[in-house]
Amino acid sequence: MMVEEQRWRAVQDRTRTADGAFVYAVRTTQIYCRPSCPSRKPLRGNVEFFVLPEAAERAGYRACLRCPRMARPLWVLWPRGSAPAPSICSASSSVISAFRRANMPMLAGSPG
Ligand SMILES: [Zn+2]
Repeated sequence: MMVEEQRWRAVQDRTRTADGAFVYAVRTTQIYCRPSCPSRKPLRGNVEFFVLPEAAERAGYRACLRCPRMARPLWVLWPRGSAPAPSICSASSSVISAFRRANMPMLAGSPG
């Protein structure tokens, strides 16, 4: 499958920009990793891909110890089912601008 091949290539290249877009899980070790994990790369035949780490965990995989907090903080912030990685930047910048807008009245407001 095309998407899987792209993901596999990202794993092989340790593509940092792919972090957060998916995780790969290794059937032989029962561990899942982010694409840029420094661990030795598994055989293609032993790998399956998940968009969310939670999905990998539901499938029985454990988080890789060498991907300590990996993209986890980001993932935790995402509402379930929301679009992964490529939207991180735009999502966080819109959060920031919403935050700024929300704080404007406070900044401009009269002293309490
Ligand atoms: Zn790892």
